[in-house]
Amino acid sequence: MTNLQLSIVIPAKDEEESIPELCSWISRVMQSHGFSYEVLFIDDGSTDGTWDQILAANHQNPAIKGIRFNRNFGKSAALQTGFRAVQGEVVITMDADLQDSPDEIPELYRMIKEQKFQLVSGWKKKRNDPLSKTLPSKFFNGVTSRISGIKLHDFNCGLKAYDRMVIKNINVYGEMHRYIPVIAKWAGFTRITEKVVEHRARKYGSTKFGLERFINGFLDLLSITFVSKFRQKPMHFFGTWGTLSFLIGFVLTVKIFWDKMYSLYIDKLPMKRDITDQPIFYLALVAVVIGVQLFVTGFLAEMLTMQSQSKRDYLVIEKVGVDQEEKKVYSSTNV
Ligand code: UDP
Ligand code: MG
Repeated sequence: MTNLQLSIVIPAKDEEESIPELCSWISRVMQSHGFSYEVLFIDDGSTDGTWDQILAANHQNPAIKGIRFNRNFGKSAALQTGFRAVQGEVVITMDADLQDSPDEIPELYRMIKEQKFQLVSGWKKKRNDPLSKTLPSKFFNGVTSRISGIKLHDFNCGLKAYDRMVIKNINVYGEMHRYIPVIAKWAGFTRITEKVVEHRARKYGSTKFGLERFINGFLDLLSITFVSKFRQKPMHFFGTWGTLSFLIGFVLTVKIFWDKMYSLYIDKLPMKRDITDQPIFYLALVAVVIGVQLFVTGFLAEMLTMQSQSKRDYLVIEKVGVDQEEKKVYSSTNV
């Protein structure tokens, strides 16, 4: 396969009206700049004529390709599938609904190729969306930026450009498409920036994400923060809290025990209350049990991490003097 300059990945769910217009617009931009390119639509379980429109577009222009899911798997799954399939040196993602403008592509390409950024995220500075969407999104972006340490204003913008190496080495699972820059940063791709892009109002169809986007987005943010901090060393989290809880429980138990012994053998007075009548007894009990549970959870998580890490390929980007020889020795002993 010849090396393409650009791959454009477009997830599409029920976007039949937009696709012909989008295709001819992209082709126009690509031709006027002389790019070698491919456009890959991922039909994410559309129930309208989206797939037929993709077929028709491919018929007219073979650079336009498609992959079709048998049901709706979500935008993250669509992007991930696209990322596995494309070949271009620079990979662009954009929405299918004509809200992102293909005119931005040449500049995004230049920023990756010439300025050597690994990820350029679009920033819909002036948004054509209702306030009910823009306000919560401001909040999310602020929180995500603070937590991740990535200085972006608009994490969820569909229009983004990547160095091929980035998308070939990250995993976009669940609904994590909102946090791709965060995932990229963990994987060590830190040359991340943003570019103000034009944002247009939706022309056809309707948005595919309702209010639940905010709840899901928030939960994803929690898990992504947690995982990013403790993925490698779960025991650091569970062990710390487990030990703390156990210690509290232990100290309380000692105190209860001491009080009992004191009243039995030193004071020689009957204790005012039975041990089981004292609230502190239950506190001690719960603290010890929770402490042990946290500890065991940490242990199990640690074992899982160990297993998955032994299978894991670390991200090697360059080699010198190792590649060929090593392989030869390996195969001669193996055959
Ligand atoms: N999309 C998708 N699968 C889904 C939901 C959305 O592939 O389950 C696509 C959709 O067709 C569009 C893009 O993701 O190309 C962004 O969706 P939408 O425009 O509805 O989101 P919004 O702009 O409202 O954030
Ligand atoms: Mg949209």
